[in-house]
Amino acid sequence: MAANTKSTDLFTRAQKVIPGAVNSPVRAWKGVGGAPLFVESARGPYLFDADGNRFIDFVASYGPAILGHAHPEVAKAIAEQANSGFGFGAPTRLEVELAELISSAVRCAERVRLVSSGTEAGMTALRLARAATGRPAIIKFDGCYHGHSDSLLVRAGSGGMTLAVPDSAGVPAELAALTMVATYNDIESVEDCFKANPGRVAAVIVEPVAANMGVVPPSQGFLPAVADLAHHHGALLICDEVITGFRLNFGAASERMGVQPDLVMLGKIIGGGMPVGAVAGPARYLDLLAPKGPVYQAGTLSGNPLSVRAGLETLKILQRPGTYERLEAAGARMEAGLSSALANCDAPGCVNRVGSLLTMFLGPAQVRNAEEARGSDTAKFARFFHALIDRNINVPPSQFEAMFISLAHSDDDIDLTIAAAHDALKQAARG
Ligand SMILES: *Cc1c(COP(=O)(O)O)cnc(C)c1O
Repeated sequence: MAANTKSTDLFTRAQKVIPGAVNSPVRAWKGVGGAPLFVESARGPYLFDADGNRFIDFVASYGPAILGHAHPEVAKAIAEQANSGFGFGAPTRLEVELAELISSAVRCAERVRLVSSGTEAGMTALRLARAATGRPAIIKFDGCYHGHSDSLLVRAGSGGMTLAVPDSAGVPAELAALTMVATYNDIESVEDCFKANPGRVAAVIVEPVAANMGVVPPSQGFLPAVADLAHHHGALLICDEVITGFRLNFGAASERMGVQPDLVMLGKIIGGGMPVGAVAGPARYLDLLAPKGPVYQAGTLSGNPLSVRAGLETLKILQRPGTYERLEAAGARMEAGLSSALANCDAPGCVNRVGSLLTMFLGPAQVRNAEEARGSDTAKFARFFHALIDRNINVPPSQFEAMFISLAHSDDDIDLTIAAAHDALKQAARG
């Protein structure tokens, strides 16, 4: 085990001034135990902690770092922009350029409103759907995470799943009652929700590839069936592409899978590592937003030039030929290696993957929804996680988060990770 005394000291210090020592719950390693790594810097595929240890990193800032960390061209763009000012409370050319680029890549995105986080994108998408339909209720899926706004923090995945907090304290029951929860990959459960609330559902919100209960791909025909059902009942389909947008293809994953969303949420990658979010869709919905329409939404730092410059630079690099082929090949290599590791170790489990998003579930033979994900052996995952950290591999500290492969990961990085995972699995099996 590499030294971690500086991280441990920082963790102790942080507990005194920051609730739970972190500014976002999953970072506290609560699901796996121990003091989290405090990060000093990161570059390419590597993370360096406060004790000077180097890790191959598959957290990738939970998705944004698709180019690897501190990509020199993005870093240069941010530095250049910083010299020209970092926020004006006035519109900029850069915002127009980013909106145009997103609009050219996402078919339904006639209009794009930039916000500062995926959470805000979710809040705004819901408010738009409720305003457009005049209806109050929404349908979401167990295990899907759409940010931490009140209406969407019901049976959410991500940190809520790791910490076994299906709902949050402080969310009024009256509001939570407007959120119905269906089962991912189970179209009948969506039908049941519509039957339970006839004429009252404003929207169905879904991750086109679920990535916050671990990675769970949609089964063949599931998303088109959800879209048809929503439209049949006069509800909107909101595709939450905060993770999948520009990660699986240059644009919206849902559109690539043949689904036409009414509203798309974006975030993470489109900010190039800086805080960002976006709601996009047809003019008939997006033009309901103030100042054009009656739906209020605002943000002091929305569309801030540092995020927009970083996002523009990142998207331009992703547009280069070979990007998504490389991510697919790297993902396939990792999937094959981890599947063999499970088989060689006689360890029950499965690897779910779409492109460069991947989760190895320890225990269940297949995972198609949150219930099956919850059947994982989280105690064994915790041992596996620490055994990987001991081998200088950093993966998300939860069974229910995706591993993110970036363009900076070489085949050697992936092969080293597979070998480490093999040994870590063996170690984890010993208890
Ligand atoms: C991360 C995430 C969000 C929330 O984005 P924040 O920027 O963390 O507020 C919403 N939806 C999905 C699918 C996400 O993965």
